[in-house]
Amino acid sequence: LGVDYGPDDVAPRRRPRDDVHDAAAARDAFRNAVDTDPAVAEHRAWAQQVVSARSGFVPAIASPLATTAEVDDVVARAARAAAAWARITPRDRGRVLRAAATHLAAARTDLVATMVHEAGKTVAEADPEVSEAVDFAAYYAAQAELLAAVPGADFRPDGVTLVTPPWNFPVAIPVGGVLAALAAGSAVVAKPAPPTPRCLEVATEAVHAALDEVAPEIGLDPAVARDVVQFVRVPDGDLGRHLVTHPGVARVVLTGSIETAEMFASWRPGLAVLAETSGKNAIVVTPSADLDLAVADVVRSAFGHAGQKCSAASLVILVGSVGDPATVTGERFRRQLVDSVRSLAVGPGTSLSTVMGPLTEPAQGKLLRALTTLEPGESWLVRPRRLGGAPLESGRLWTPGVRDGVRPGSFFHLTEAFGPVLGIMSAPTLDDAIALQNAVAFGLTGGLHSLDAEEIAWWLDRVEVGNAYVNRHITGAIVQRQPFGGWKASVVGPGAKAGGPNYVAQLGAWADAADVP
Ligand code: GLU
Repeated sequence: LGVDYGPDDVAPRRRPRDDVHDAAAARDAFRNAVDTDPAVAEHRAWAQQVVSARSGFVPAIASPLATTAEVDDVVARAARAAAAWARITPRDRGRVLRAAATHLAAARTDLVATMVHEAGKTVAEADPEVSEAVDFAAYYAAQAELLAAVPGADFRPDGVTLVTPPWNFPVAIPVGGVLAALAAGSAVVAKPAPPTPRCLEVATEAVHAALDEVAPEIGLDPAVARDVVQFVRVPDGDLGRHLVTHPGVARVVLTGSIETAEMFASWRPGLAVLAETSGKNAIVVTPSADLDLAVADVVRSAFGHAGQKCSAASLVILVGSVGDPATVTGERFRRQLVDSVRSLAVGPGTSLSTVMGPLTEPAQGKLLRALTTLEPGESWLVRPRRLGGAPLESGRLWTPGVRDGVRPGSFFHLTEAFGPVLGIMSAPTLDDAIALQNAVAFGLTGGLHSLDAEEIAWWLDRVEVGNAYVNRHITGAIVQRQPFGGWKASVVGPGAKAGGPNYVAQLGAWADAADVP
């Protein structure tokens, strides 16, 4: 694929022993099956159209940055709209959300192309993100309807919610926050992450289309309908602080780093901040695991969207014989992992053959250190490299890295890198592995690969993460089925999980909390 991993890698390149198969024949059979499938051909044609459309999406299309006066105006209009929106019944709020689901689905091509352009996502990562946004709309619509059904309790919408999403899920996360707040009866100011403004602007246009469409049917004044959700681009710094600390804002829904959550709280003591923050997530693999499945899930979890997910696997903790490279299983796991990681096609998101796209922003700080610097006892199984590339990707294309021998308490054990680097740790027993997993300050996602029911039950009882996955990749939580949220330092505020049954209810006030089941 034209990617030169260079001679420095120290991956074991021994002849496969126990799993010899005719890879070329398997690949040809797969290609033939895929090439003759009309659904695949149709999807390819659509994806090609999406990536070719990219040249039409330049950042200038996003609205310009706001001034202080414009920020004040946005909050004032949102506050006026909040009063009108609070009078709409939960059932009718649900109707708007259901219409939003339809409009978001209709905007799929624009949303995917914009994510490819602004965030460097691949089509394969961006497309399910639109589906997640649509799922949020349908799920929170149902939650809005349930709010009215809690016997004896009176849920009161409460003011303006500021939604500040991250750039790594620039559509699904803000759409989830905006629509949950709408479901709760709150008006919303939505501020995009600086690298991905147009993603949120396109999504907001879909929500506006839903408000316009349903407003006349539910008695919402069409003149204020669009003010219920306000999109505003604000640079980080003083104006960002002005918005977050604005007295017209009742609460902030943040997905971002723990540092940002702490900064918001320090700016305005008493401000309700609901935040999902960072993660340092590990997958534990025991000797009972299906190693083929474990390798595939580790690679997907570590390198999907170039590792730029709070949920990403940054560590794999190998238990007992799997941890020891001198054993058959230990050698086999590493060899398969290395082969799999080396096979990831790195390139621009606009190429349909790309599996791992560019970083959204050039690597710096902790990530640059993780990509370039080993600590005592560590070695590169696959050494990451910076590639050249078209101007847009320049400095942002890195091949994936795997560092072996990560030691307990080290920088890489405890620090979120947020990029395409995976560390391997070894632990004599499952309890030791759990101790390593729980030693980090964060507790967002975690995985176990084991086919032993006792091990699974033992691990599930002890692992300190919000989302614990068994024999599955640890990214890509599905709305309603896997409500997403953290534990320990990964969460700030009441902590109900996104896409779960209590998320909407935490965005308002109960008239009599004692009545809430
Ligand atoms: N919800 C996403 C997932 O399950 C992660 C969101 C994030 O990175 O903040 O992978």
